[in-house]
Amino acid sequence: MGEPRVIECRLPAKSSGARRRRMHTGCRMALSRGLRCCQRVLSWVPVLIIALVVLWSYYAYVWELCLVTVTYPLEKVIYLIIFHAVFLIFIWTYWKAVFTPPKQPSKKFLLSYAEKERYDNEESPDAQKQILAEFARKLPVYTRTGSGAVRFCDRCQVVKPDRCHHCSVCGMCILKMDHHCPWVNNCIGYSNYKFFLLFLAYSMLYCLYIASTVFKYFLLYWTDELSNGRAKFHVLFLLFVSLMFFISLMFLFGYHCWLVGMNRTTLEAFAVPVFQSGPDKNGFNLGVQRNITQVFGKHWRLWFIPVFTSLGDGFSFPMRTVSESQNPLLSREDHWDEEASDEENPASYESSDITIQIDK
Ligand SMILES: [Zn+2]
Ligand SMILES: [Zn+2]
Repeated sequence: MGEPRVIECRLPAKSSGARRRRMHTGCRMALSRGLRCCQRVLSWVPVLIIALVVLWSYYAYVWELCLVTVTYPLEKVIYLIIFHAVFLIFIWTYWKAVFTPPKQPSKKFLLSYAEKERYDNEESPDAQKQILAEFARKLPVYTRTGSGAVRFCDRCQVVKPDRCHHCSVCGMCILKMDHHCPWVNNCIGYSNYKFFLLFLAYSMLYCLYIASTVFKYFLLYWTDELSNGRAKFHVLFLLFVSLMFFISLMFLFGYHCWLVGMNRTTLEAFAVPVFQSGPDKNGFNLGVQRNITQVFGKHWRLWFIPVFTSLGDGFSFPMRTVSESQNPLLSREDHWDEEASDEENPASYESSDITIQIDK
């Protein structure tokens, strides 16, 4: 009779321990889910700040300046027409920069289950390197790590395409990653770099237009030739805020213009890409004109409109140091669209025997 009692005593103790552990794990998961949720909500705060500043600038310019302060009807109309044209294109580019999702590597860069198992079971780093090298042979991947290995993302389990990097904020690999921008709460990469540049350019134009038209009324208020308390406050702030944003954006835009001219991403400006023959900071530099068309496309009329016109597929990029006869990406640049459609068919890369030789 004693034994069953012992069993009776142990069972509840065991099950309560397991229950406690389950509860503990459950609490931890709920907490981390809650934290992730908070992080996601907080990441929209900078976008909200920009939206509020833009809304205020709209009210201050349209109502307080044009409708309350400006007295000549023709001046009013001209100011309002130009302002709305600039405002609309500025909002359009901001929308595209915020809501265009960054592009990720396709499935062909993902290790298969068997390859992953082989990779994980291998303890020697050299053997792991070899497995990745074998896998990458069928892919258009020419950049390497500092030690010469194929670039692999442990978190996404993908072989990183050239110029692709893992973003710790987004938690995924981003094609031609430039940087993660908190002001648009998005990763800037291959799919939205043009939109980001246009957003910077049109923000500057918006600020410059406001500053230049407000300046005259700023002087009139300053010399006490106009006296409206509330409008005065808005006009003064319009000038200061637009000038402040214009000057800060000017440096950022200037830096990105230089990057586009050199065909470098912000990340590549800080960490030189390594090719099979070694590091080369100008590895993707094709000359200013071709570098610009890589981002903005071949038709200059579409350069200024926020529609996607960048060349290529985001997975592979023409390289300056590889002679055209040897690099199919350069000699077949006119067939980018065809290559993009080959994405679903990895065999197309297997069949082309690519030999890359870097001219030093
Ligand atoms: Zn990754
Ligand atoms: Zn990101």
